[in-house]
Amino acid sequence: MKSVKHWINGALADGDAARTAELFNPATGEVSGAVALASAADVDAAVAAAAAAYPGWRDASLTKRASVLFRFRELMYAHRDELAALISAEHGKVHSDALGEVARGLEVVEFACGIPHLLKGGYSEGVSTRVDSYSIRQPLGVVAGITPFNFPAMVPMWMFPVAIACGNTFVLKPSERDPSASLLMARLWQEAGLPDGVFNVVQGDKVSVDRLLEHPDVRAVSFVGSTPIAKYVYESGTAHGKRVQALGGAKNHMLVLPDADLDLVADSAVSAGFGSAGERCMAISVVLAVEPIGDELVEKIVERVGRLTVGPGDDSRSEMGPLVTGPHRDKVASYLDLGVEEGAKLVVDGRETPVLGGGKAARTPGFWLGPTVLDHVPAGSRTHTEEIFGPVLSIVRVRSYEEGLEVINGGAYGNGTAIFTNDGGAARRFQNEVEVGMVGINVPIPVPMAFYSFGGWKSSLFGDTHVHGTEGVHFYTRGKVVTSRWLDPSHGGVNLGFPTNG
Ligand code: NAD
Repeated sequence: MKSVKHWINGALADGDAARTAELFNPATGEVSGAVALASAADVDAAVAAAAAAYPGWRDASLTKRASVLFRFRELMYAHRDELAALISAEHGKVHSDALGEVARGLEVVEFACGIPHLLKGGYSEGVSTRVDSYSIRQPLGVVAGITPFNFPAMVPMWMFPVAIACGNTFVLKPSERDPSASLLMARLWQEAGLPDGVFNVVQGDKVSVDRLLEHPDVRAVSFVGSTPIAKYVYESGTAHGKRVQALGGAKNHMLVLPDADLDLVADSAVSAGFGSAGERCMAISVVLAVEPIGDELVEKIVERVGRLTVGPGDDSRSEMGPLVTGPHRDKVASYLDLGVEEGAKLVVDGRETPVLGGGKAARTPGFWLGPTVLDHVPAGSRTHTEEIFGPVLSIVRVRSYEEGLEVINGGAYGNGTAIFTNDGGAARRFQNEVEVGMVGINVPIPVPMAFYSFGGWKSSLFGDTHVHGTEGVHFYTRGKVVTSRWLDPSHGGVNLGFPTNG
């Protein structure tokens, strides 16, 4: 049985160890270990370590910071298989998918390696007579990241490479469901030469989140998770005077126009709907089929779903693994009956999916639910509007582009969306009219590259700043403008007027 601890000031820490949470192997349902749940005092110890490390790290040269990031990138790449195995064992996703999340996270590290360029300020010579002005961006101090279960490596890597590159020190509070990846990353930071205390991990639940939100030495909080908690974190963090970016849940629609290539659409819908068992905030969960293509498209989707292989994450034949916990599997599965009650047609029932090495999903130990397809889901029903966060793909039939757009814009979330069409004019209109932060055109999961910023609209984001890219650099720094004049014989003496330029 493993025992997962905190990482404070460059070393594993037991903390007060009064509370723990069980860890599971989602493929078998067995308990695999326990994770410590930090007390407020444990959080205080991590923040104190980060605060003590801050002056030294803030003053480390840009080239020194960049060189540590380069080494961290190489070590992470060398250990990617180990990291993916840790993720897969606790989250359940298949190994290749876990490797994919590590690769996307590393792109942010690579972006942050360019920090000397990213932190360049502006300089204006002669803004007034013999007066120069220049702008600089400086780090905030101790910053915190609070992350969800579904990407235990990538989502923290949306945050800490940029924060640390900017000169901040960091306290990560990962999901208590899959905490092990954070400790490997902490060890690799140390091996890369990051001074102790610059990167710390506190394992925990609401107790540690609340302490981070109220701690006077934490200057900023990045959060990714479900919408109710994102809203809470935003409200509580800002009430305590912190800068907060809080990314919430999602319900992503794929709008399919009748002229689209339906084989491409079916491949894309199945990949984006069932990859990582639908536990992705950018998963496609609703296909909006503009008639008359509905029947033909559903047939193609069902045919492809029938060929998917469901099994444990460490079996190389598996394309889709189990869900993260038993309660989450039960919640997701409850939408199958609810959908039918609301008038949908259950065309593929994931409870009956065979699991490698087991029987049907519903009768195999472990947290299994196979890919499920619900057709004719009524727009506005709970099955259509609520975030299910599992392998359930809903097909909503619409009569026109306009009706599809209205369905998307009428929803509470605005994380990701996609349009499939061969009509450039329609696609261009969609990118302009849709109220969603990340848009794909014939691309089902439009996750921006690290040098752009990731984030949604509406209930998918609380705060103004998206993560990584230039918005990430802005989030983790404050601007300062210096106006300087070096004395020369012509300085003008006392003048009580407001400074004007001449
Ligand atoms: P969650 O909201 O339950 O947990 C996220 C974090 O908040 C965890 O670290 C957890 O320990 C903490 N937390 C949970 N309950 C809390 C409480 N009452 N008070 C304070 N902190 C609390 O989310 P999850 O189930 O881990 O992750 C899935 C959710 O994350 C989905 O809604 C998904 O859409 C969302 N998500 C969004 C994005 C995005 O970019 N918008 C990315 C990934 C995941």
